[in-house]
Amino acid sequence: MNRINFARISGVVVDVCKGHGTFLDPGELHAIVQFIHGGGLERARSRQLEDLREQEKRALEAERRLARDRVRKDSNQSLSIHHSWPFLIGHE
Ligand SMILES: [Zn+2]
Repeated sequence: MNRINFARISGVVVDVCKGHGTFLDPGELHAIVQFIHGGGLERARSRQLEDLREQEKRALEAERRLARDRVRKDSNQSLSIHHSWPFLIGHE
């Protein structure tokens, strides 16, 4: 049995069982109906959209950071090649 905040933001915490369904305590059905009548599902949907956009933004930032680190590593490599020049020249 999992305790789930109905529609994530309703504040009505229901018990959900994979095999048997959703269980409501007295008063919870009424609270859910009020939540829905008050536009709760629309609010939940736009909140979820916001969360998805935020996740997308974070993923893009992480990707950009990875790309930047890769560039930094590359420039470190060219730096070490540069430092090995005098050695190479000395053996010419
Ligand atoms: Zn069950």
